[in-house]
Amino acid sequence: MRRNRKAKIVATLGPVSSDRAVIRDLFDNGVDVFRLNFSHGTHEDHKQRLEFIRELELEVGRPVGVLMDIQGPKLRLGKFRDDKANLKKGRKFRLDMSDELGGKRRASLPHPEIFAALKPGSEVVIDDGRVRLEVVDCGVDHAETRVVVGGVVSNNKGVNVPDVILPISVLTEKDKRDLAYGLKLGFDWVAQSFVQQPADVMELREIVGDKAKIMVKLEKPSALEKLDDILKICDGIMVARGDLGVELPPQQVPVAQKKIIRRCRGAGKPVVVATHMLESMVTNPVPTRAEASDVATAIYDGADAVMLSAESAAGEYPVRSVKMMNDIIEEVEDDPAYPAILDSQRPQPDNTTADAICNGLQSITNILSSAATVTYTASGSTTLRAARERPHAPILSLTPLVQTARHLSIAWGVHAVAVDVANEAAEVDDVINEAKAIAVRERFAGSGEAIVIAAGLPFGTSGTTNLIHVAWID
Ligand code: PEP
Repeated sequence: MRRNRKAKIVATLGPVSSDRAVIRDLFDNGVDVFRLNFSHGTHEDHKQRLEFIRELELEVGRPVGVLMDIQGPKLRLGKFRDDKANLKKGRKFRLDMSDELGGKRRASLPHPEIFAALKPGSEVVIDDGRVRLEVVDCGVDHAETRVVVGGVVSNNKGVNVPDVILPISVLTEKDKRDLAYGLKLGFDWVAQSFVQQPADVMELREIVGDKAKIMVKLEKPSALEKLDDILKICDGIMVARGDLGVELPPQQVPVAQKKIIRRCRGAGKPVVVATHMLESMVTNPVPTRAEASDVATAIYDGADAVMLSAESAAGEYPVRSVKMMNDIIEEVEDDPAYPAILDSQRPQPDNTTADAICNGLQSITNILSSAATVTYTASGSTTLRAARERPHAPILSLTPLVQTARHLSIAWGVHAVAVDVANEAAEVDDVINEAKAIAVRERFAGSGEAIVIAAGLPFGTSGTTNLIHVAWID
């Protein structure tokens, strides 16, 4: 079974999409990676979903990636006397640690870490940006603010503080419990919420080790400023536009999205564009034209994957949403301008043997119009360097490790297959014959077509990519 597209689809599972048959339907219609969101559901729910996905893998004979998304800290207001209050633009409003019920002049904000970080001029954003306050004066347990954008605030509404770094670990006790559970179950990727700085990723790495790949959710302006440093220590990035769009003014989100995609491609790390992609399909069977255009833009920009959240987790049309995303991607990838656009943004190869080989792979593939590029990989690294080149032919990635195949399910253009031929004892001819056989079996190449193979000697060893070979199918 193979997909007819290069960019991938990540879909979140939730109440409407957690039984075996729906998960199968979602996969059949295009899902490459399932996201389990630990902000919702019980451990039992997630375990059951993971079991269904692993059974699905056996049924369809394809590796399927599973992404565990940990919640991170949630900052919330306390409660109000009348359950809500209407804040008027220009008025003063106090936030403090008292547990007294709030009103239109003050509210409880039970987070000392926020008061420790606020300064006069800092912004406090309530309820996904609906109400905005500017700090005028502050102390260790309070802040006097002026209402910049007024509106109704109510019990326990979410709070964001975009322009400060909070002096807290972004891994909460709940996250640590979830990780202990999830890493034992065996997720392929962990998505980390609320990353403020590189040290946050290092803290997660200590816990995750090599049990899973780490995807940083880019949702804080401070993380955007440190993007290059974060990219050095994570394995992928999610453009988490829900929170990013609260922390940044909306007009800055598209520019940030494009910048993140460019930097990720430069670094050769997968990038996923997430949130509100087909939002109206939560209740409608077709998306708005603007939503279709949003998905298409992410693909033209060269994203590895696009993601569905509520559309597939809690909406009325989970399978249709996936099908729609699939169809939009296929349409873009059929546009003759698409490969030319990706070529025009091709990053320079690094001064390494692997990049020289992958650069050669890309140009030989394009010159010969070959049917597939084939990469032998143990860690997945050669395949990701090849994907960074965005070759015109799909990348058939052959790996001895099923976990590597699952990691690569999120990467642009990659069709990963777990094989056992490329062991240290294998001869070059065996490996080439195996690559040809798998390319035919997986329906990438037929008689008379070329495949271009990159591998390393000795086989099965990471970091040895040093061989490129053109093979023709008999
Ligand atoms: C987001 O903020 O866009 C996101 C994906 O994170 P969450 O769903 O956890 O809000």
